Amino acid sequence: MKYYSTRGKSFVNSTAEALLKGLADDGGLFIPEKIEKINFNEEEIERLDYTEFAYKVISTIFDDLDKEKLKTEIEAAYDTFPKDLLPIKNVDNLYFMELFHGRTRAFKDFALSLLPRLIKIAKEENKVKDKTLILTATSGDTGSAAISGFAGVKDSEIIVFYPTDGISLIQRAQMVNSGAENATAVAIEGNFDDAQSALKKIFNDSDFKEKLKTAKYMLTSANSINVGRLVPQIAYYFYSYYKLVKNKEIENGDSVAVTVPTGNFGNILAAYFAKEMGLPIEDFICASNKNNILEDFINTNIYDTHREFYKTNSPSMDILVSSNLERYLSLKSNNASEIESIMNDLKDTGKFEYKHDLNMHGYSCGEEETLEIIDKIYKKSGYVIDTHTAVAVKAAEEYLKENNKKVLIAATASPIKFAMEISKAIGLDLKDEKDAIEKVAKLSNDIEFLKQVDIKDGDEIVIEKENIKKFIEERILC
Ligand SMILES: *Cc1c(COP(=O)(O)O)cnc(C)c1O
Repeated sequence: MKYYSTRGKSFVNSTAEALLKGLADDGGLFIPEKIEKINFNEEEIERLDYTEFAYKVISTIFDDLDKEKLKTEIEAAYDTFPKDLLPIKNVDNLYFMELFHGRTRAFKDFALSLLPRLIKIAKEENKVKDKTLILTATSGDTGSAAISGFAGVKDSEIIVFYPTDGISLIQRAQMVNSGAENATAVAIEGNFDDAQSALKKIFNDSDFKEKLKTAKYMLTSANSINVGRLVPQIAYYFYSYYKLVKNKEIENGDSVAVTVPTGNFGNILAAYFAKEMGLPIEDFICASNKNNILEDFINTNIYDTHREFYKTNSPSMDILVSSNLERYLSLKSNNASEIESIMNDLKDTGKFEYKHDLNMHGYSCGEEETLEIIDKIYKKSGYVIDTHTAVAVKAAEEYLKENNKKVLIAATASPIKFAMEISKAIGLDLKDEKDAIEKVAKLSNDIEFLKQVDIKDGDEIVIEKENIKKFIEERILC
């Protein structure tokens, strides 16, 4: 597969290269040259084997990776999940795709348990002998899932940068107390956007990359700018849809809507790729929290970052600059010079206007409302959802006021990860976060998790965002 940059000035000739580079040389993001349709026959739907679905989806795009290796690595990656790796819970017209049963209890495990293995294949194919340095900005869940995925992987070093406030005790514990010798977690004084833009600069810093090269390191990213993050996520939309078909909730071919609590736009973009690959998703509902820049953009076609940044109770969506949106805009307009020009506007003025139809529904949900929804669903059905999923429920409810369709909701995190908020929402009001974690673990039938994480504060490394590069140099080049 050949991949073009969204900004049109560079391309790579193989999946291996796209995986290893992360970002295109012109600062854009890679898009596969063609997106082919796939389908699943009755027998495959009846068997409903996740790795089979994942293999078919992933190998359709990554068609030039070694087939046997790809198959083996997909099987190994999803072996870290429980047997029923993606349960779907139904409440009224809503179907919750529980994407959070991987090791760190967020949907990111689906991509990040596979990414290190994809990078391994890519390095073998391109005969790269250098070590891999993975740098990742995180609002909480990417960091823990990336550390879990890369822990102990030979010839890899991973450093994740997370904002000092706004992440939960479990998220911090998963990063700081991972015990992995090749992983470092660093807190940044600032927010997620600060960490992400500082890292983007490093990825475009050719002097720095030269230095790393001399030290025998190859730089890559575990953020969703990497196609190795995006493509594995397409698979769970196919799997979930056909699970509904198998369970006779829908007929094969029925159109559905998908609601995704959105931050960096990776997950919802994966749903859009699923549609391009033939899945009958008719409507896309993009759910934002109080940082509702995407809702405004969908409704006005103007993306404007001149606004207050809020730290909310759905912290993994506290983002103003949504990286993967660029890929969506590029797929919709198919005009690289236009994308380059609006991305320059964004860089220079913090704002841009997009002239094409976005074909998406956008809604947002405030913090109080998020808690009310958690409480409402719990009272109605005994089902406990997390804060991000609650934001998606609100968006789905808004959508259903004017539409009548079955809605798949991406349930992106286990409620345990945000136990304090859940405890507040359903009126338990526990004062101690550990008590809340235990209680919510019981309510969501997941006491297994408590045995797996060392839930204590741990020692944090805190640096200023100006010092990210210096920190990496001291850690890696000395
Ligand atoms: C990362 C994350 C999101 C946002 O996903 P994007 O792909 O960045 O849009 C939503 N919810 C949770 C729990 C997350 O960890």
